[in-house]
Amino acid sequence: MLEQTTFLSHSYAKADGHTLAAYEASGGYKNARKALTMSRDAVVDEVKKAHIRGRGGAGFDCGTKWTFMPKESKKPCYLVVNADEGEPGTFKDRTIMERNPHSVIEGCIIGCFGIGAHTAYIYVRDELHLSKERLWSAIEEAKAKGYLGPKPFGLDYPVEVYVQTGAGAYICGEETSLLNSLEGRRGEPRFKPPFPAQVGAFGCPTTVNNLETIAIVPTVIGIGGDAFSRRSALHDFNDGGARLFGVSGHVKTPGVFECAVGLTLRELIYDLGGGILGDKQLLAVIPGGSSCPVMLPSEVVNVPGDPRFEPYNGKSILDLPLGVDTFRAVGGMLGTCCAIVLSEDADPVLALHNLMRFYKHESCGQCTPCREGCGWIDRILNKLVDGHATMEELDQLHRIASDITGNTICAFGDGAAQPVLSFVRKFRKQFEDYVLTGGKSQTKKLVA
Ligand code: SF4
Repeated sequence: MLEQTTFLSHSYAKADGHTLAAYEASGGYKNARKALTMSRDAVVDEVKKAHIRGRGGAGFDCGTKWTFMPKESKKPCYLVVNADEGEPGTFKDRTIMERNPHSVIEGCIIGCFGIGAHTAYIYVRDELHLSKERLWSAIEEAKAKGYLGPKPFGLDYPVEVYVQTGAGAYICGEETSLLNSLEGRRGEPRFKPPFPAQVGAFGCPTTVNNLETIAIVPTVIGIGGDAFSRRSALHDFNDGGARLFGVSGHVKTPGVFECAVGLTLRELIYDLGGGILGDKQLLAVIPGGSSCPVMLPSEVVNVPGDPRFEPYNGKSILDLPLGVDTFRAVGGMLGTCCAIVLSEDADPVLALHNLMRFYKHESCGQCTPCREGCGWIDRILNKLVDGHATMEELDQLHRIASDITGNTICAFGDGAAQPVLSFVRKFRKQFEDYVLTGGKSQTKKLVA
């Protein structure tokens, strides 16, 4: 198995790991101090060399995103840290906030300096009470020590960090929706362009980064971008460093683990996750949050023409390193890298039904394909599990989901359609069984 790292998780087992004393004892805040003595360009260069692919799901390169901010701006610039984390099956950012909040604050200082901002907002979903408390406490501790405020570390670059709470809408994890919510507006996505780097929070240039992305930045400054990137097994894919891997569902030891990028699903499920509950067979896995297509262990890697895939071609998808581009190339998605595991005891029809109730509820309603499509799919699935759906309605599921894809303002539409398209195609027999027998031949129960 790849090397397990402790850049972020060094404090997880310690009862006081969230305190400033514990963080400083492991070298905390040295890297922010160092960054503020570098040039802004040098900081951004290190982050670019690190190839940190955004940890929130989109996988966009963090350093490249920082270069979109203006070099000179008459308006204030902002860093916004996305800690909304509403994706079903994803709980890695919460772990950082609760157990290592100072890594986020230190990342905010470096991030603000890198993009020319003096203010960072950390947007946290309201029900994460311990996360908020730990962040507030970390900010107070950092202020009292002079690490935040008008002269961090006695240097002439003011930085303030604020925690802003959301009200629990999934769509506020979408960056422009988050910005609307931050401004006190209704949390619904904006049309792009303009992009946040041009017109973001309060009409000013803004970078929105996922919380884990920001929390790993101090490590990058500490060990250097290139050295960080080379810890990854996917350095050749420009997917660098280490990240948090989550695993939940039908595994013996669900949790969040830190490891070099490039861990495989097999290692995540069977080594870190302890294997399948009750030593059952693996039915399927959703690799990175519920918006990703479901994948079967029988699926085989087949990416001709790219020598980087030669070691993996012909192997099970379980043995393909988890990376943004590796999973994209096989028709999957890495997403948040927090896998949901379904054992042979799970009923895939009920699993999709469960997911679509969530998406129908969380659509903001701006776009007709998403608003009406999610509701329509939900109604058909309700009929299906009640044993009243027809084959024609089963086929309609695919058509409706296809019509949502690519026809909406934000990525929520695609995220809601992907589970439908993949579940219905890969478990066609089980879905037909619900039409033909009302699901009576299904003896399984969804436990996840
Ligand atoms: Fe709202 Fe859905 Fe349209 Fe996104 S795709 S803006 S969530 S209606």
